[in-house]
Amino acid sequence: MSDAVKYVLAEDRIPKAWYNIAADLPQPPPPVLHPGTGQPIGPDDLAPLFPMALIGQEVSTEREIEIPGPVRDVYRLWRPTPLYRARGLERALDTPAKIYYKYEGVSPAGSHKPNTSVAQAFYNKEEGSTRLTTETGAGQWGSALAFAGALFGLEVDVYMVRVSFEQKPYRKAIMETYGARCVASPSEETAAGRAILAKDPTSTGSLGIAISEAVEVAAQNDDTKYSLGSVLNHVLLHQTVVGLEAIEQMEMAGEYPDILVGCAGGGSNFSGLVFPFLGRKLRDGQDVRIIAAEPAACPTLTRGRYAYDFGDTGHLTPLVKMYTLGSQFVPSGIHAGGLRYHGMSPMVSHLKELGLIEARAYRQGECFAAGIRFAHAEGIVPAPEPTHAIKAVIDEALACKEEGVARTILFNLCGHGHFDMQAYTDYLAGTLVDEELAEDTLAGGFAGLPPVAAQ
Ligand SMILES: *Cc1c(COP(=O)(O)O)cnc(C)c1O
Repeated sequence: MSDAVKYVLAEDRIPKAWYNIAADLPQPPPPVLHPGTGQPIGPDDLAPLFPMALIGQEVSTEREIEIPGPVRDVYRLWRPTPLYRARGLERALDTPAKIYYKYEGVSPAGSHKPNTSVAQAFYNKEEGSTRLTTETGAGQWGSALAFAGALFGLEVDVYMVRVSFEQKPYRKAIMETYGARCVASPSEETAAGRAILAKDPTSTGSLGIAISEAVEVAAQNDDTKYSLGSVLNHVLLHQTVVGLEAIEQMEMAGEYPDILVGCAGGGSNFSGLVFPFLGRKLRDGQDVRIIAAEPAACPTLTRGRYAYDFGDTGHLTPLVKMYTLGSQFVPSGIHAGGLRYHGMSPMVSHLKELGLIEARAYRQGECFAAGIRFAHAEGIVPAPEPTHAIKAVIDEALACKEEGVARTILFNLCGHGHFDMQAYTDYLAGTLVDEELAEDTLAGGFAGLPPVAAQ
């Protein structure tokens, strides 16, 4: 029998402001550069792609940024989200550690992503956009933006990585149910897509290619803006509702975490949980260890280079300094589709450089084993991405057992796995393979880094 403890906040505890970590950094992150001039870009360079409100948030150093009323009204559909103590898992591991998790799978799209899609749709609507373009890998971001577009009356065009488009028909069905248009990428609709198809007609696509397509369409149409589901500062900012609520819920539990864990693809759910706690550490010295968990098949933080690189394969984006495997790197088809991005958020990369966070990489087999252990003990089937966080949490809890110390661990369970059951089917059938990522393959990716990387 489950004796999980659930900490629930009243609706009026939905945060009134997002927390901006830029206000508390010991030093600012390196500037974003224009690929043509090599000079720092300004707001005007980004104006074709994003509404001014989001560009302002991208560069803001204000600690608190007010959440607009209509955004909070939509958040009310599922926020505040619950925080649980995972007693079943603690027992299963026979650990003295106390394990807590914040559960973002209760949103309409089943993940943390609506925290930002709703905000982005709101600001776009306010500034007169009528259509949003975006990319999606496994489909979580596409469904989150389709949901937000439906609520705010915006058209949404989603370029979905072809391999997922074919493997995950239900994700496409959700996007279409919300009224979005979903196109397999690379597509014939854009110059970027056509260029890839000319070289490789059977290309299965990648996030980097899909970003190029979505950016191209937004740049060429005045009424259309581009929307990104991770990586950028304003996206991480919107996700901080997760950590802000979690701080209050941990207070209800009478605890403060010793260790925070999140899985990291582009870095947004990780940042959302972690930044408000990290802000306290930077301001008041309240210490906490922070661990980002990533896939061994796409090991951006653990084996990538900290270098200037493009955010997309077609090189339409500005240059950002980040941990990267190179914009031409195409990770193997692991099931954690949301973690298959060649780069890492520049802000998360900067924090890694500053030694404020740690990173670990795990193979997908051991992650699914951890996910299944969690499902048995806690009853929630996690999405493949947060099974990486769960694997790290289990390792930490077992270390506590070995050392005989009762640390408090908090992680972000950023989504449920109901649309990823093929992945669990494959795991249970024993057909999942864990390929080693060879140094040669990595070297190939690094060879494609732009020359500015040498600066
Ligand atoms: C998109 C997604 C991720 C990866 O993106 P981050 O920006 O790193 O959070 C992880 N988990 C889930 C459930 C996702 O939908």
